[in-house]
Amino acid sequence: MTVQTVDPTRDNPAIKCPRHQETMRRFLIGSVEIDRCGVCGGIWLDLGELQRLLESGEDIRHAIGELDHWVQPEDPSVGSPPVCPRDHAPLTQVRDPKQPHIQYDLCTHCGGLFFDAGELADLSEFTLKERLRWLFPGLRG
Ligand SMILES: [Zn+2]
Ligand SMILES: [Zn+2]
Repeated sequence: MTVQTVDPTRDNPAIKCPRHQETMRRFLIGSVEIDRCGVCGGIWLDLGELQRLLESGEDIRHAIGELDHWVQPEDPSVGSPPVCPRDHAPLTQVRDPKQPHIQYDLCTHCGGLFFDAGELADLSEFTLKERLRWLFPGLRG
């Protein structure tokens, strides 16, 4: 599994970290693009990207682990209440029912998810489909 950096395009412009308003860097893992903040290490996934990550195969966990780590010690709760980098709707904080130390920020408008550094890698060790069903009850599979 290779991780490449990707340049933003006109159709899919760069987005800013919900916490820092810092332009996020785009990475391609397998066939899935993710956006990562170089300041806090937070990762933004658009609706469906998490699902596609999980379906991409076993190596994905390793790739995520390489990418998803602290850049620098920083309180992840800093910054104003985060808003969706795509549509600026306020994000809803969702605590994982089985791993309560993990919380995501969910945009109920577009279905995007923001993970603080380390949380995605942490989550990926477990059965994510179950969680996706919980987050998006309409999801099949
Ligand atoms: Zn950030
Ligand atoms: Zn949104």
